[in-house]
Amino acid sequence: MSIALQEMYRQLGISKEVYDFGEEILEGLKERFQEIDAIAEANQLKVLKAMQEKQVAEACLLGTTGYGYNDLGRDTLEEVYAAIFHTEDALVRPQITCGTHALALALMSNLRPGDELLSPVGKPYDTLEEVIGIRPSKGSLREYGVTYKQVDLLPDGSFDFDNIKKAINDKTKLVTIQRSKGYQTRPTLSVARIGELISFVKNLKPDVICMVDNCYGEFVETIEPSDVGADMVVGSLIKNPGGGLAPIGGYIAGKKECVENAAYRLTSPGLGKEVGASLGILKDFYQGIFLAPTVTASALKGAIFAANIYEKCGFHVVPNSTESRHDIIQAVEFGTPEGVIAFCQGIQAAAPVDSHVTPEPWAMPGYDADVIMAAGAFVSGSSIELSADGPIKPPYAVYFQGGLTWQHAKFGILRSLQSCVERGIVSKFFQ
Ligand SMILES: *Cc1c(COP(=O)(O)O)cnc(C)c1O
Repeated sequence: MSIALQEMYRQLGISKEVYDFGEEILEGLKERFQEIDAIAEANQLKVLKAMQEKQVAEACLLGTTGYGYNDLGRDTLEEVYAAIFHTEDALVRPQITCGTHALALALMSNLRPGDELLSPVGKPYDTLEEVIGIRPSKGSLREYGVTYKQVDLLPDGSFDFDNIKKAINDKTKLVTIQRSKGYQTRPTLSVARIGELISFVKNLKPDVICMVDNCYGEFVETIEPSDVGADMVVGSLIKNPGGGLAPIGGYIAGKKECVENAAYRLTSPGLGKEVGASLGILKDFYQGIFLAPTVTASALKGAIFAANIYEKCGFHVVPNSTESRHDIIQAVEFGTPEGVIAFCQGIQAAAPVDSHVTPEPWAMPGYDADVIMAAGAFVSGSSIELSADGPIKPPYAVYFQGGLTWQHAKFGILRSLQSCVERGIVSKFFQ
């Protein structure tokens, strides 16, 4: 390592011992990083091929206003997404405000009163509880007469095939499968495992719609759930597929009929995909999906680096230092509020925006404990950018994700470690 580089780290608050520790950890990660680069390379080619096949032109980068009829850029972008995910069609819109909205849209447009929704992978992401009506909310599926069944994973993380079989009945119309563990402790599902589950379900009931919540999973592997039988994959553009550039948006890629249903619900019956001006946003959507494979790879390297650092320092990390990866989220259990706070404040101090701000735990609406959040992002709330949050309750874990570049993710993790070292939270290797 060059003295000049070490001096730059020093000027940004990283001590020599923390830096050296990081380098030692990195030595052991070369092979894994090569694997990630190979996945990014395959995904880069996949995205490029889709853009070329669909003849993305300079005119596509411009937008429409008003009704947005004949929006060449919007329509071509949706073809590009469909080509990437190998689906019949896609809906990719700034009018889809976030991931929850995209998922709610996919569900509400494809379910009708009297239908039943099944989650065979346990409790879905928090915000979906109100969409489904697990927690009562105005306008939930439950209010519209759509019932819900859930089969939890077995204690070892495997699918409970017996109970899934029992849960599927005449009314079962749609099966929702969440790829990422989100903020739970179960393992994230690989695309291969999602494929097994879909095959099992379709064997029992071929016409059931299988939807995958793909949030945080896009481009982590070379195949997507739509390559193994999913009828719809759904996600947020301020996570992986937006590449850090999309300032808003969500997508639904899948069977023509499913996407059409979603379009009629998003705009209006009779209008569907024909309206929805893209305004000036398309260049960022195109450039974002173009960068998404390498941005996701950077975030993934950051997650693995963090797992290895903090595991070596004696903390329980999920996934652990050697496990295979199927999403970009990393959890570190500190066991104390001070650890969670030090980590998040370190991440914030590493940000390109608002690095001078010190986050503190606060009573966020919708949470049952105080939460501390670190987010110095270009796009507000974007979690493909380096970000962390931790509820101040046992086991005092932080959830960390993102990093638009590997170099920034690395710095952020070293900065978090520095903050933990200075406050005596990590002492094992730094006495
Ligand atoms: C982020 C996320 C969502 C919801 O997305 P928002 O954009 O926060 O509304 C849903 N499911 C999973 C697994 C997620 O990670």
